[in-house]
Amino acid sequence: MARLFDQALGAYLGLAVGDALGATVEFMTSGEIAAQYGRHRDIVGGGWLRLKPGQVTDDTTMSLALGDALLDGRRTGRPFDTRLMAEAFVQWWQGKPVDCGNTCRRGIMRYISDGSLAGPFNEGDAGNGALMRNLPVVLATLGQPQRLQEVSLAQARITHHHPLSDAATLAFGEMLHALLSEGEPALVMPACRQIADKWVARHGVFRFEPYPGRASAYVVDTVQTVWHDFFVSHDFESAVVGAVNRGGDADTNGALVGMLAGARFGAHAIPRRWLGKLDRAICLQITEQTSALLAATDW
Ligand code: MN
Ligand code: MN
Repeated sequence: MARLFDQALGAYLGLAVGDALGATVEFMTSGEIAAQYGRHRDIVGGGWLRLKPGQVTDDTTMSLALGDALLDGRRTGRPFDTRLMAEAFVQWWQGKPVDCGNTCRRGIMRYISDGSLAGPFNEGDAGNGALMRNLPVVLATLGQPQRLQEVSLAQARITHHHPLSDAATLAFGEMLHALLSEGEPALVMPACRQIADKWVARHGVFRFEPYPGRASAYVVDTVQTVWHDFFVSHDFESAVVGAVNRGGDADTNGALVGMLAGARFGAHAIPRRWLGKLDRAICLQITEQTSALLAATDW
């Protein structure tokens, strides 16, 4: 349990520090980042959202909203109720988040106007917004691969209905389950590699070797960027620094690399100087939610 908690907390705090670090350089090019920061490797806030140092964005706060919905559902006898998740997104939206992607906003507006829990297939829904917030579902469904699939797709389609968004969300969920499972440490990365290869075989556009070098919010670019930096890095910090310095959707790509690398190396491997900067209230919420999601195995 101590090992699992460290790795699950590593994934969640990794998501948040990647978000906080990357948000500073979101939508910049790698050249602009190099000109302004050299190598961007410290949490300093700023960016187009004018953040305080350590402040996180939608990637982290939407995840926390989803996790709260899961825990509420369990407490009130409505486990994995999709409507609770949709309501949580509405509440999150009404709390005036610092940022909200267009596809997320459109999905939340649709739910508010007609109460539908999923939109129709939409060619434009292939952004990374459903993928970026799925970690609490992963933690709530450890050891239950079928349930991981069902709940991941249900939460995803509240705002995103596209086969590539679905595939990416499921692929990352499967990889996180492998990273968090109690296996021979030497076999964990080969297992992750196998999972990536399987999803690339299903969806050739996810191929990330050789790395095509695009880091936008298109879910294909996100999958390629995050897997590339995750698989080439040998420690938490270099994985996250590598991803955010590509610019583009730097906060989301940083968050997702931080999530995978945090699950691999554990919370203890996250640089102190980053954890020390991270918004205290967010840090506390993440720690409590991780603990509650792991404790609740009897859904
Ligand atoms: Mn964001
Ligand atoms: Mn972003």
